[in-house]
Amino acid sequence: MTVESVLPLSDFSSFCDQMKSVAQANQSGVEVTLKFDNQKGDRSSKIAPPDASQLKEINRLTGQEWEADDWLCAECHMSDCLVDKTDQAWHPDVLRQMQATCDGNPLVTDHRWSADNSKGFLIHPKLYIDEKPRKQTLNLIGKGDYNKKIVKRDGGMICLSATICVRSDSEAAQMIRDRNWQNLSTGGKIKSVQYICPNCTEQKGREVGFYEKDKNDDYVCPHVMRSPWIEYAMANGYIDADLPVADYTLVNGEYYSVELSFVLSGALPAASIQR
Ligand SMILES: [Zn+2]
Repeated sequence: MTVESVLPLSDFSSFCDQMKSVAQANQSGVEVTLKFDNQKGDRSSKIAPPDASQLKEINRLTGQEWEADDWLCAECHMSDCLVDKTDQAWHPDVLRQMQATCDGNPLVTDHRWSADNSKGFLIHPKLYIDEKPRKQTLNLIGKGDYNKKIVKRDGGMICLSATICVRSDSEAAQMIRDRNWQNLSTGGKIKSVQYICPNCTEQKGREVGFYEKDKNDDYVCPHVMRSPWIEYAMANGYIDADLPVADYTLVNGEYYSVELSFVLSGALPAASIQR
């Protein structure tokens, strides 16, 4: 079954609807070749007028000739491969597609997909590996053990960074400077969604979908998908406490980016402006 649904993953109710709508997701392993811009990572934390290369990109995207002081740029951590607050993690291939489709995308507020809410745009998206992510980063929402396995799988923490551009005299620039706007969340569309079990994948040495069936029409994976709802239901005796629950859900599919939003609290806790 093919679905097309709107993420943000920060919206838990839409996440639940999405889960219900995908009873039989199409499952297949995906060969992934990732190209990284900077093997050592890009941890710059500059909020400043654009440098020459950034100004060139702003001029190209706007079709105008600007002075550097007309704009404010900020480096941001857009997304990564870690487990988010809805117990999902992006497959590396989604991060690659995100990077490939986000250049010039609008910067909006709270995933409100209206042109009126566009406050700026993104340039210079870069995919890189942080080979030694900080323990604190891996454990921001108590998922350190699962994140350690992800980092081992990928040889580091796969991160997507970009540069935010807003007009220097705008309210958006002031909100960024004053740290009223700090946390970020990506918004995009995904279809042919695949929900992959990390536990069975590790055990069998190949990607195993939650809905994959064998030749006898039995499910290959015995786990249910973890979610904040499952944890609540188990803790309160609404469902069997012995139910085998996967560590998290690895999400893959055909993805394209639509926007990057400022949010109060995004699904991925590390997604924010670098200061
Ligand atoms: Zn499983």
